[in-house]
Parts: sequence; C-alpha cells; structure tokens
Amino acid sequence: MTKHIFITGGVVSSLGKGITAASLAMLLNHRGYRVAMQKLDPYINVDPGTMSPYQHGEVYVTDDGAETDLDLGHYERFAEIKCSKASNFTTGRIYSTVIAKERRGEFLGGTVQVIPHITDEIKRAILSLDSPDVDIAITEIGGTAGDIESLPFLEAIRQFKHESGLGNSIFIHLTLVPYIKAAGEIKTKPSQQSVGILREIGIIPDVLVCRTEKPMEDEHFCKLALFCNILKELVIEERDVQNSIYEVPIELAAQKLDIKVLDLLRLEHKELDIENWKQMVDTVINPANGDVTVAVVGKYISLKDAYKSIYEALSHAGVANDVRVNIRMVESEELEKMTDCSLIADADAILVPGGFGDRGIPGKIKAIKYARENNIPFLGICLGMQCAVIEYARNVLGLTGADSTEFDANTPYPVIDLMLAQKKVCEKGGTMRLGAYPCIIKTDSKSARAYGTLNISERHRHRYEFNSVCRQQFEEGGLFIAGTSPDESLVEIIENPGLKWFVACQFHPEFKSRPLQAHPLFRDFIKAAMTK
Ligand code: GLN
Repeated sequence: MTKHIFITGGVVSSLGKGITAASLAMLLNHRGYRVAMQKLDPYINVDPGTMSPYQHGEVYVTDDGAETDLDLGHYERFAEIKCSKASNFTTGRIYSTVIAKERRGEFLGGTVQVIPHITDEIKRAILSLDSPDVDIAITEIGGTAGDIESLPFLEAIRQFKHESGLGNSIFIHLTLVPYIKAAGEIKTKPSQQSVGILREIGIIPDVLVCRTEKPMEDEHFCKLALFCNILKELVIEERDVQNSIYEVPIELAAQKLDIKVLDLLRLEHKELDIENWKQMVDTVINPANGDVTVAVVGKYISLKDAYKSIYEALSHAGVANDVRVNIRMVESEELEKMTDCSLIADADAILVPGGFGDRGIPGKIKAIKYARENNIPFLGICLGMQCAVIEYARNVLGLTGADSTEFDANTPYPVIDLMLAQKKVCEKGGTMRLGAYPCIIKTDSKSARAYGTLNISERHRHRYEFNSVCRQQFEEGGLFIAGTSPDESLVEIIENPGLKWFVACQFHPEFKSRPLQAHPLFRDFIKAAMTK
C-alpha cells in the first residue's frame, strides 16, 4: 500500500518547498524506500507550457512529454525519481477533465460542483501515484496557505487524509520563521497564523518545517509546538544553507526529519546511506581543480529560474571534473548592443540555451561567432543549436540573410524551418515535439566520445528544426551532423570538427543531468573549458 505525504507552504512563497520535498524524498529513497512525487499547482493554465519564462521560470519536460513545473526538476535531480504526466496537475487540468466528463454526460442529471466533483478529481490525481512499486508518494501543493485558488486542493487533501486512515497520510507544513533585525529576534507569529489558516479548513499539520536564517532556540520550538498544536519534536528547523542546495538533505537528516516521518507513517527506519551525496557536496564546496567561468548567453537572464536545469547541470559537470563552475549570466540583448564582446571574452566556455521568439537572437549569434572564431568551447541547446546553424550559414557558408522562419518568414535561406509535423498544428498548448526521442550518434564525434554509446534518448521541446534541404551544403561546408533521429530525417546534434569543443543539440540534455551523474555533454564541455 502506498503511503502519502502532503507538503503545504505558508507565510510567503519561494520558501523552497520543492527543494524541501525533494530532499525528503531523497532521504527516504536512500533509506531504501521507493518514492514517487507530484506537484499540484493552483493556476488555471492546463500546464506551464503556455506561460512566459518570466512568469513561471523554466518549463521542465519529462520523458513522456509533459511540460511541467520546475520543481519536478528538483524531484528528479535529488531523488532520482522519474516524473511523468502524473507528476503535475493544475487547476486547469483538473477542471478540463471534469468539464469533459460533464459534456460526455457522466454526471447526467446532477449539478457539477467544486465539492465533490473537483475535489474527487484531485483525489484521483493523487491516487494516480499509487502502485505496488511505490512505497511513499509525496505531493506538494503549490501556492501559500490562505490563497483563494488553492482551497479545493487543500479540501481534497483534508478529505484524502481523513479517508486513508491512521498512519497512512501525513501533512507537513513549510513555514517561515523570520528574523527581525530591529528587534534582534526571530518571530513565530506568522507561522502560528499560517497554521491557523490551515486549521480553519480542517488541516492540522503533523510536522512543521521552519525555514529560518538564524538558529532557533528552545523557546521558539516550545511556542510553535504549543500554539500550532504540533508535538515539539515534530517542529523541525530548516536553516538557510551556505553553499549549495544539495546541502539541504544533509541538514534535514541531521534534524531527523526522515526518521520522524517514517515513525508517523508507521514504517521501519532502515539504514540511511548518503555517503556519496556528502562527497558530492564536499566537491561542490571545495573542488580540487580551481574554477572555470561559463558565459550563459540567454534571453531570460534576469529571471534566474528561467534556466534552472542548465545552471544545475553546469554545477553537476563541475562535480564530475572536480572544478567550481562560475556562471556568468549574459543578457543577449546587452551583448548585441556592445561594439565588442568584452562581456564574454574572458569566459572559459560559452553556452547558448533554448528560447522562443526573435528578441535577443543577434546577441546569441554574436556570442556563437565569437566562440567559433576564438576556439572557445561552446555548447548550444535547442534554440542555441538553431542559432549556431544560422551563424554558420551566414558567416561560413556566405548565405547572407539565412535565418529561422521563426524569426524571418521571408528569409532567402530558411536553414531552420518549422517541422513538417508542426505545419498543420494550430493550438499552442502541449503541441510541440515533446519528450524523449531516440537519437543515433556518428562514431568519431565528440558526442560519441562523451556518451560512450551511439544510441541515446533525450528530451525535446521545440517546433522548428534544421532544414534537411540544406544538409548537404552544410556538410560540404565543414559542419558535422553528429546525431540524427533513427530515420535520419531530423538533425539532433551538430559539431564543428575543426574546433576544440563545439557541440550543439536540438534536445535538452540539462533535464537529464544529476548531481551524482553529470550529463555527458555538460561534463565534457566543462572538461574542455578547463583546458583554456
Ligand atoms: N523556438 C525554437 C523552436 O521552437 C527553440 C525552442 C527551444 O529552445 N526550446 O524550435
């Protein structure tokens, strides 16, 4: 039988609920439990795929092609959990399902209501994680206690716990215990009030996890326990970590969160083995080989979360090479405006990530030209690969005006064009080429050396592709098509064989990188950066 943990958040957003949930999953995992995870998001978009990266941050893509919340990236990275379409439900998705059922006549004769129809659908979404292969399912509820829009989700988990019986479901509430500088004190009142809001709707947290900047004293634990109606030993401190988010599970293990949760769920403790993880964190903090600087030339740079998995994958690659990776975030429009390339000139490597639309493209192309002409290790991802193709067409093959039809519908040389399968697509939501597809790599490529195999599977999220009509011209002009779809119709990887390390891919390798297992392309990219 699958046991359930529900994680809610209080006081403010951005408390790191996803990282806390993922850290707990990691600890339970390393105690030998099989864990599944899920996020329930209260917004009305059916998925985050239609939101701007500035609104929502990165859209994380699963193997089965779901466009999801970036917290799922934490789940997969911390706990080595495989997320799927069952791992992220939004209000929009729940309502769409219920409304479709209503149209089919499944509730014929009845009035369709938030309770029970919406809440039942939410409970079905939660139960979709249950399987004989899952011991513990962790469900994170997006938003903050007190938000109007999260009420149906909270009501659903209240019912769920009530129906599941003693010891089978628990509530963890993550809250903020702020330090008030002027008073020189940390304050418990906001947490008391947040738990009060939950109590009004029938939820009494079993565990209170307190995010705090300063260490909490005994009096704070006592106060929180008494006024929040929670056992003192189940008030857990989660202090800010100094160096890396990967320290969080180690800190939570020191507070015995995992053991206390297992007790509440009436599960045996089993042994915890996180030695590899601790070593990885030591390497992040104190690498043996100094540091390298990677310029990430993006178009959503001002929002750190927009490239979350890229930054994490770079840090994993640092661990694999025992080096610190400093990330210089370069806004491509800034680079575009400059007369020179001084923003990226001293970087050890250049990475151009994915994106949509024509804003900032000249700056990306300028960065790629600089990398190519100065033999600086380069990794292009999705839009980054498409820009590398455009740059090569214009500046090496002499195809003036070459472009992607995404940016210039009338370009004389459409070297990047809409995929055939996309030409008849009208709706925007969930209609890109999404999820894992196989790719065959050519021997003698940098990619083959990195992966150590010629058959790979990587995740995608795009509508445009390398225009195969131009393929011969590029190959004759020295560009190496290093990877394609098995039927060779889609170009998946390009390389510039004359350069030290110049690789660009249509897929998103960053989604599959893990702290203990850096992605091969990121690993070798950083290795090349170390030779500058
Ligand atoms: N805009 C490009 C496309 O749709 C690239 C997408 C991306 O970088 N994820 O093909």
